[in-house]
Amino acid sequence: MTRRATKIVATLGPASSDPALLEQMIRAGVSVVRLNFSHGKAQDHIDRARMVREAAARAGREVAIMADLQGPKIRVGKFAENKVRLETGQKFVLDATRTDLGDINGVGLDYKELPQDVKAGDVLLLNDGLIIMQVDAVKGEAVHCTVTMGGELSNNKGINKKGGGLTAPALTAKDMEDIKTAMSFQADYVAVSFPQNATDMEMARQLCNVAAAEYNHKPLLIAKIERAEAIPKLEEILRASDSIMVARGDLAIEVGNAAVPALQKRMIKMAHEMDKTVITATHMMESMINNPMPTRAEVSDVANAVLDGSDAVMTSAETAAGKFPLETVIEMASICKAAEDAEDVKLDADFSGKSFSRIDQSVAMGALFTAYHLGAKAIVALTDSGSTALWMSRHRIHIPIYALTPKVATQRKMTLYRNVSPLLMDTSADRDTALAQAEKHLKDRGIVQSGDIYVITCGEPMGSPGGTNMLKICRVS
Ligand code: PGA
Ligand code: MN
Repeated sequence: MTRRATKIVATLGPASSDPALLEQMIRAGVSVVRLNFSHGKAQDHIDRARMVREAAARAGREVAIMADLQGPKIRVGKFAENKVRLETGQKFVLDATRTDLGDINGVGLDYKELPQDVKAGDVLLLNDGLIIMQVDAVKGEAVHCTVTMGGELSNNKGINKKGGGLTAPALTAKDMEDIKTAMSFQADYVAVSFPQNATDMEMARQLCNVAAAEYNHKPLLIAKIERAEAIPKLEEILRASDSIMVARGDLAIEVGNAAVPALQKRMIKMAHEMDKTVITATHMMESMINNPMPTRAEVSDVANAVLDGSDAVMTSAETAAGKFPLETVIEMASICKAAEDAEDVKLDADFSGKSFSRIDQSVAMGALFTAYHLGAKAIVALTDSGSTALWMSRHRIHIPIYALTPKVATQRKMTLYRNVSPLLMDTSADRDTALAQAEKHLKDRGIVQSGDIYVITCGEPMGSPGGTNMLKICRVS
């Protein structure tokens, strides 16, 4: 397989919960597997996490597991006949107190606060915006609406309020239980849905760290940017997170479709500037749910997400519930590769415009600068925590970064970093032995050959997190 810098996050679901298929998907380029906690029970996720670890082991690769919490997603209840067909112009009642199954006149709600959060004149979008209702009046716990765009509404479809403004806290009681489940299998990343501000992320981190303590684990946190309120708070949310997801599905509904492409570019740029990673998500290959080929527009969308600088592109229903999960991954991988090859790297080649005072960060930047100007074949980081590799990967450079770490948890989290190939290597030996082992790793994998130049960073003494203080420029003997 040719090397690719952009990573692929694939959502697991009924269509991909088969060990052999999953192994093929990992071989085809999936680096992070997303478990969607909006569906399924705790035991399902535990079983799937084990399946992921086993499939990765068979494929001879490490992948990260992302536990994506449901958050305060507002959903309609269930219908007596599983679905209804709403006509434009008809009345419909969303009733928080309703306990019987829904019908053509109305349905119950799992989010009981909705009547307090809306008023006459508000616009509600259901099923990802395919159905629109205007609120006529709120009477007690019932929201009376007129359907302004009809369509089929089925069980448990989501509801969004145009313009945002729902008061639900980002972490529900269910999320808190799900965090415990996710930590029991040491999920590498936890994605928080609908955070409004830094406090939501700080709270999630605290809950994760408490739940993970007994496993001696610390997950990384992803803020899903999908609420209108999160946009003015992007900087503080980024500061409190390790990564963000451009969650275009819900975001588009809240801010309007047309605002999303510019927001995507802004979020990716901000993430890079703040040394955070970023995933572009939702509807990337949507038509491949049913077709073996993407549309031209989808191909361009994935390519542009790569050119924007995404660390990863993500699949949702394409791999969770679609007919062509493997084909989607193969197709995405080839689009990413072609976009990377077309990328103008001179953009970021002088690494200016960034100030840093830490020794380890300075060494990382020095390695990039040197490798770029010498035309090195590879940049190698011996890293304990992964931060050297993260800093290096925040810049566009077409020289591959190999991150060698003795810790499997570090190896897994680095699978999301753009342009970083994480490898496991015992670095407990003395420095010269470790450097010799690193070169052997590169030669064995055909990454470098005799005469090639590579640059390598490490810390002395070896194995102390944040201890990178050395840069060596090597010519392979
Ligand atoms: P979801 O999040 O798939 O969990 O809704 C992603 C999005 O909203 O884009
Ligand atoms: Mn969402």
